[in-house]
Amino acid sequence: MSASIIDGTAVARASRARTADRVAAFRARHGLAPGLATVLVGDDPASEVYVRNKRRAAAEAGIADFHRHLDARSAPDEVAGVLAELTANNRVSGILLQLPVPGQLDGPALVDLIPPGKDVDGLTTQSQGLLARGVPGLRPCTPSGVIELLDSAGVTLAGAHAVVVGRSELVGRPMAQLLLGRDATVTITHSRTRDLEAISREADILVVAAGRPALITARHVKPGAAVIDVGIHRTDHGLTGDVAFDEVSAVAGHLTPVPGGVGPMTIAGLLSNTVSAAEIAAAETASTD
Ligand code: NAD
Repeated sequence: MSASIIDGTAVARASRARTADRVAAFRARHGLAPGLATVLVGDDPASEVYVRNKRRAAAEAGIADFHRHLDARSAPDEVAGVLAELTANNRVSGILLQLPVPGQLDGPALVDLIPPGKDVDGLTTQSQGLLARGVPGLRPCTPSGVIELLDSAGVTLAGAHAVVVGRSELVGRPMAQLLLGRDATVTITHSRTRDLEAISREADILVVAAGRPALITARHVKPGAAVIDVGIHRTDHGLTGDVAFDEVSAVAGHLTPVPGGVGPMTIAGLLSNTVSAAEIAAAETASTD
């Protein structure tokens, strides 16, 4: 068997085009574009690249830019003050604090200052709580992108056994919740799991976010399974993932490549969340007018 390769670049392009249409409709209706505030503290080169890419993609979709760049030595109160200012600004639909932040700052505590209605990364304690309860809210971008990729490939989630490799707050935990919300039977595995191979071989859907290059081999995969590789590793030969692509593609039914799989979906999800945040805020304002 040779896996059908899920083209994340194409799925993300289509998602971004839909978001651009929603932005245009929002502008036509409200006279203003949805706005995204990216907050970058310090000069970490990787973070600068990530933020630049997010701002560029937002601009391409017609989203207004409210970027703030703060000094690396900023005190907690200064960052909190900027987040409060952006929270109060009605033109800012979504706020994203780029992580990691410099050592004198408590990243998770600062993220928690973002109100759930503007939490376009879906990472605050409140947003994660809404997700865990199955209540509507803004969802984390990378796991949402994984669901969109599975849907694009026509993979049935309801009743399927989904195994998630990794339990981070950023990917593994919200991934498991989203799969549960779609009626999959979910198993979460992690660094202390005994016999990953036996458990992952049970999976109809295997989502891998362990941050371990080529952790998943052909032996870990049930023939015909859908395998989604969230891992990203920079090597001398370019980007690779957590899945040994060549051998797994001979066993899996569907497989995402790295690059060109989950990666492009993350920014697409951020843009979509920003427009959703704007639409919800506008609807709430209209209902209280
Ligand atoms: P993390 O380091 O926070 O978490 C890794 C998780 O994997 C942990 O819960 C750990 O218990 C588990 N794990 C480690 N070794 C394991 C093993 N041998 N067996 C089973 N589980 C194991 O990482 P993260 O933030 O969740 O990211 C995971 C990977 O996904 C990284 O490579 C990261 O670069 C990538 N990532 C990609 C995107 C994207 O847009 N494509 C977004 C976020 C993260």
